[in-house]
Order: sequence, then structure tokens, then C-alpha cells
Amino acid sequence: MSRIHLIDDRIFQEITEVKRQSQGKVPFWRKLFEQYHKEGIAFKDAEDLRDLYRKKCKQLGIKFDFTSMEDKANINRMPGARVGIIDIETLPMLAYTWGLWDQNIGLEQIVSDICVLSWAGKFLNESEMYSDILTSKEAVARDTSRIARSCWEFLSKCDVVIGHNFSSFDIKHINSMFLKHNMPPLKQVIVDTLMIAKQNFHFSSNKLVAINKELGIRNKQENDGFPLWAGCSKGDSGSLKTMLEYNINDIFATEELALRFRPYIRNFNMGLYNDIDTIQCPVCSSTNLKSEGFYYTPAGKWESMRCQDCKCISRKKQNLLSKDKKKSLLINS
Ligand SMILES: [Zn+2]
Repeated sequence: MSRIHLIDDRIFQEITEVKRQSQGKVPFWRKLFEQYHKEGIAFKDAEDLRDLYRKKCKQLGIKFDFTSMEDKANINRMPGARVGIIDIETLPMLAYTWGLWDQNIGLEQIVSDICVLSWAGKFLNESEMYSDILTSKEAVARDTSRIARSCWEFLSKCDVVIGHNFSSFDIKHINSMFLKHNMPPLKQVIVDTLMIAKQNFHFSSNKLVAINKELGIRNKQENDGFPLWAGCSKGDSGSLKTMLEYNINDIFATEELALRFRPYIRNFNMGLYNDIDTIQCPVCSSTNLKSEGFYYTPAGKWESMRCQDCKCISRKKQNLLSKDKKKSLLINS
């Protein structure tokens, strides 16, 4: 069976129809690839089929409408959790002080407290960017009531939230803002890329900018440093505009890092977010998995599964040890 390099009109129409029916919710490329393979029409793999379909779309002048190409696992992905990537910027505290070093600033010396200045977020595998920033008037008054609502709206749609240093910084500022404005708490699983970096790797610095530089992936936008924050605090519209661009750019950098770190995520399982009982990768929900030996604990033996898309290694839940084997096992004491 020789590999074909063009798809004909029949296949094109079939794919278009399946794609229309799936409405971006049901994965179909792998299934179609297998179906054509049975018919004796050879593609390299499911991704090859999708690439050829894209080529044909271009030839025919049809706008290719996949929202995101960065996530290769998307091709076999089952519908599941909505994963949001979010980052905030804050305005610094303003305070009276008599010196530069070792200062103890009393509460009565504070002129304005820290507050959320802006937020930006997007959903994984979707292209639309969501963001908000204080207006000039709101920045001067440090009035976060409006952006608190927009931020709450975005977060309320996320099952999982990814951010860098999100657990120690962003979510605490966000929660304080929600509490201040009498907004109810939200539920979602947090995936903190800083924690993944600390737990699994040794980077010279765990700052997003340093890790992304080391990995050679899309990085944060540079900025003017403190003068930009000072400009925002004074309500300067140019500074606010630049700040929002900077905040948005951070999202792309965080998203790229999250995709690189994905096989190391441990605290959520995408398979829980749909009712499909096919085996799915716990972190990317791809159905493209291969058995890869066994995983042993003192209590059992489990079949290991390797995701062929994100490379995550997981294991099945069924203990493969027989009753007799379990009885015969000794435990170190
Ligand atoms: Zn995966």
C-alpha cells in the first residue's frame, strides 16, 4: 500500500461532513485514518491525513478553521475538561517611607494597597484571548470591582486553571479581590507550572522567562520595568495599553511551557470529564496510547500506558497480581 500525497474529492467531502458533525467536540481523525487504512488508502498517520486535508482546503480556498495548532494531541483528543491559562498583573503598594533599607512600614503609612491591575487568559486549544485591565480612572482609584467580575466570568468557565506561580501568587490576589467584592469562591483544579518545575527539574532559575529561554520556546515580552507599573498606577493610558499587551503575551509563554510540562502533570485526569469509556491519556485525553511494560509498587503490578501524543506515562488501575501471588508476597518490615 503506497502512501498517497493528495486526497480526492470524495475523501475531502467525507472528512468535511464528519468534521461538520463533530463540531469540534468529538475526535475523528484517528478513526478516519483507520477507516481509510482498511479501505487500502494509505496515509502516514492521522496527522498526515489532517495535513493533507488542510492542503486541500488551501487549494480550494476554504479557510482552515482549526482554532489552535499548537496542541498536537488535539488530533486524538476526547472532549473533556476546559483548561484555562491565566495570568494577572498587580499594582504595587504605595507607602510613606523614611528610608530604603530594612524598613518596617506600618499600616498607617500605606497610601494605597496592592490590587489586581489586569488579567489575561485563554482556553487551551482555543484561539480567543480574554483579558481586562483597569481604566485610567479605576487605576487611580484602585477600583477593581469591574475587572473582578470579568475575571470571575472567565475563571468560572474553567475546570482546570494553568498558571506560573498561580497557587502562591495569582489565585491569592484573585481570591482577595473576589472576597472584597462579595463574589463567591470558584472551584477548579490548579496546575501550577512553577510547582512542576520545582518538583521535577533543576533549572538555574524557575522564573518563566528563564525556563522558556532554556527550553527555547516562546517567551515573555520584555517591558520597561518599574516605570511601566508607575505609569499604570497614575492611570496613564499608554502604560495601561502596554501592560495589557505584556499580560497577554505572558499567556502564550505560559501555554507553551504548560504543553512542554504536560506529561509531568499529576493532579488531574482528563478522562474524568467525559462519559466515554475508551482508555484516554490522563493529561491530554488522547486515545492514542500504547502499552509499555509494567509499573510496580509494593502492593501490586500494573500495566503502564504511554501516550503517543504528549508522551505522558500512566498506568491502568487494575492490579495484575493474582490472589495467590498476593498471598505469597513478603513485605519489608
Ligand atoms: Zn497525552
